[in-house]
Amino acid sequence: MTADPVTSKAAAPGAEYAETASAAYRAALQVIESVEPRIAAATRKELADQRDSLKLIASENYASPAVLLTMGTWFSDKYAEGTIGHRFYAGCQNVDTVESLAAEHARELFSAPYAYVQPHSGIDANLVAFWAILATRVEAPSLAELGAKHVNELSENDWETLRNKLGNQRLLGMSLDAGGHLTHGFRPNISGKMFHQRSYGTDPDTGFLDYSAVAEAAREFKPLIIVAGYSAYPRRVNFATMREIADEVGATLMVDMAHFAGLVAGKVFTGEEDPVPHAHVTTTTTHKSLRGPRGGMVLAQPEFSDAVDKGCPMVLGGPLSHVMAAKAVALAEARQPAFQVYAQRVADNAQALADGFLKRDAGLVTGGTDNHLVLLDVTSFGLTGRQAESALLDAGIVTNRNSVPADPNGAWYTSGIRLGTPALTTRGFGVDDFDRVAELIVDVLSNTQPSATAGKLSKAKYTLADGTAERVHAASAELLDANPLYPGLQL
Ligand SMILES: *Cc1c(COP(=O)(O)O)cnc(C)c1O
Repeated sequence: MTADPVTSKAAAPGAEYAETASAAYRAALQVIESVEPRIAAATRKELADQRDSLKLIASENYASPAVLLTMGTWFSDKYAEGTIGHRFYAGCQNVDTVESLAAEHARELFSAPYAYVQPHSGIDANLVAFWAILATRVEAPSLAELGAKHVNELSENDWETLRNKLGNQRLLGMSLDAGGHLTHGFRPNISGKMFHQRSYGTDPDTGFLDYSAVAEAAREFKPLIIVAGYSAYPRRVNFATMREIADEVGATLMVDMAHFAGLVAGKVFTGEEDPVPHAHVTTTTTHKSLRGPRGGMVLAQPEFSDAVDKGCPMVLGGPLSHVMAAKAVALAEARQPAFQVYAQRVADNAQALADGFLKRDAGLVTGGTDNHLVLLDVTSFGLTGRQAESALLDAGIVTNRNSVPADPNGAWYTSGIRLGTPALTTRGFGVDDFDRVAELIVDVLSNTQPSATAGKLSKAKYTLADGTAERVHAASAELLDANPLYPGLQL
């Protein structure tokens, strides 16, 4: 994926083998059709819908045909519980090859001492990390104190005491309304039931992460784990500073880079903004900005690698070997110089999108961005996030609503719209295209009015001025046609 000298657009991943991929998909769909035609039809329709929508969901992307095709094989049929070379099933030699390669690519790409590629998703990766930290920092010292090598050797009473200890640890993570993730210790998620949680937020005036407040919370709360990382914070984080805070209070620093792993892989975030050398344990998804298959991954410093390696049976069952194979392919792609071009374009495009909003007087949380996402504050249009999300969808623009710090409309209706650039950048969108996207979004939102029900303004209902949806649809169709998804792929 290098820049095309004629159009200055980034060439689409997989464009060079599009003809072969087309033949493969045509054959696959024909086979599926012969068994369950409705699934073949839905699969065709999904591609058509993805091609026709202006996808600004910050957590989504388009994996290459090579990555997607890799998932459709007989590796799906193999049980391979355990770890490389130590399986609970016979016949895992090819899974060993696949898992070793994926892990090797991950270690090389992220300069990580150790990589674990089995987690099925981001939440699984976080669970593996939490329990690896608990095993290393709580279980192992307790066993040593009791002179035992394995939990099975403990008496009923000693085990009960240890279980209570494991379930009574403290975790400090970023608050949800500042952009943190549910898996960082919030009550609806298992992480909030496992840990006594406290959160840190952002500076109420600037919206930026307030490191001195994080340090203060850490000193007071004395957490076992500090989690850094986010899903909806539009700025970079200094992970060296986060590590200093963790070291001062004896906490383990876990960084969840699920959203921005692509910017780390593509060397946009380096030095103190690269979490891997600073965190004890780094977790990620593989399907967001990293542009791989749907899955998760854990990177660890040597101190935690043995415990992470026991993710199965600790948290996971049999690994998805077909997905590990696709992770290896995606990571091989991310190791190409072209991926660095892509990652830089993701960041440049986010900047262009933010500038496009600012010059049209739309409010942004933190006043801008320096990563891959923008958090638009739609109260500047007199709307809730829910109304804005629905009105944009009517005009063919796919986004998601999101809380803003101290959100006056709460976590359901919200006051924000989260927009990310990874997916459309994969299609080839450049900075001028993103300025146009900002213009279209402002066009929709400034033509949307909240509706009143029973004399009271609704937080969900709205009316879109006549002609807006049609006008914006036509304009975005032009942008989409100029930047085709999977060019050359014909079913
Ligand atoms: C997306 C995300 C996750 C969860 O990933 P899933 O694959 O959906 O389980 C975890 N943490 C963060 C920060 C995320 O953005």
